[in-house]
Amino acid sequence: MKLANGLALNSHPSGRHFLQIPGPTNVPDRILRAMDYPTIDHRGPEFQALGKSVLGGIRKIFQTAGPVVIYPASGTGAWEAALVNTLSPGDAVLMCETGQFAALWKKLAERLGLVVEFIAGDWRHGADPTAIEERLNADRDHRFKAVCVVHNETSTGVTSRIPEVRRAIDRTGHPALLLVDTISSLGSIDYRHDEWGVDVTVAGSQKGLMLPPGLSFNAISEKALAASKTSRMPRSYWDWSEMLGPNANGFFPYTPATNLLYGLHESIAMLLEEGLPNVFARHERHAEATRSATRAWGLEVLCQNPAEYSAALTAIVTPEGHSADALRKVALSNFNMSLGQGLGKVAGKVFRIGHLGDFNDLTLVGTLGGVEMSLALAGIPHRKGGVQAAIEHLTRTAPGASALAQAA
Ligand SMILES: *Cc1c(COP(=O)(O)O)cnc(C)c1O
Repeated sequence: MKLANGLALNSHPSGRHFLQIPGPTNVPDRILRAMDYPTIDHRGPEFQALGKSVLGGIRKIFQTAGPVVIYPASGTGAWEAALVNTLSPGDAVLMCETGQFAALWKKLAERLGLVVEFIAGDWRHGADPTAIEERLNADRDHRFKAVCVVHNETSTGVTSRIPEVRRAIDRTGHPALLLVDTISSLGSIDYRHDEWGVDVTVAGSQKGLMLPPGLSFNAISEKALAASKTSRMPRSYWDWSEMLGPNANGFFPYTPATNLLYGLHESIAMLLEEGLPNVFARHERHAEATRSATRAWGLEVLCQNPAEYSAALTAIVTPEGHSADALRKVALSNFNMSLGQGLGKVAGKVFRIGHLGDFNDLTLVGTLGGVEMSLALAGIPHRKGGVQAAIEHLTRTAPGASALAQAA
């Protein structure tokens, strides 16, 4: 059988599919096996042990000592939860136009009846701490109740500088809460909920945590918890207090996504075994190798500020008049590889390479090989040698490379 787009259903392509979109990401076999167990009684003692373990362990990934609520929901649900627990109808919030995900969070906030001031952006830079500081300084009667920033803007491959945003807010003495979306950075890019003074951190399961889609998270500061006691936004399913009561004993107020929690237990173990600093360094190294390839091809990275390059994904601009979607189509039909499409304002103009989650040097070399072959097949002007440039970076920076060179 053939689908309308010409893809054959039921024909098995040999070898593994390369799922190199920036989420959902590849789920490692270790996690798949960890989920392959019968669902258990979510009110029983076995579940309680699992619940306590994941609710405790996930705090280490957010680098927080405070509570983390886990919803059976996509990341979008956790966006909504962050807003409805802390704010009241008609509240003003300050958001930053970093890209498509920031635009979607804004739309969601407006549908809830919040009044959003959107600091305009060019989709090539992160949230601007100076612009945030100016808006808050001008807001003498503290109309803004929250500042919302997407940490890693998945549509552009730009990572906002959250510690600088925090310092900018602190300089103004403004009491607004800081809400941060880490859906595509948690477990891939350094992120510290407590140290960076974030009030609510939003995350999802299907990106850096290497899990299937279906879980999302709110990490909650004391200040955010206090705000939730007086906020008046209607909420029921998302209500933190409904969750935090049963969570204290490892339980959930409604049926949890038990098998995804088995997976989360394994994901936390894997990240802590590797060590978070090593996980972050691995992502940075692969991102730099990807940019080396991009420069060698003579193509442009969408992100324009090197201090904001994303370690989780790279968005690459195709030359004027050449469709990025045509390239993606070639990559899928010829090499069984999915690349991320351009979203919103950059639709058709960029493609995105996800290099996050369960990913290593050879996954990167294979991915970039597929991109280089697809560039040629799609007739996109470029120079050869991108893969070679990436290999040179990976070789030069391989663990133990300098020791080996000295011994030789
Ligand atoms: C993926 C993503 C989302 C949306 O998450 P869903 O799970 O699709 O609801 C939101 N923000 C960012 C930064 C993302 O990467």
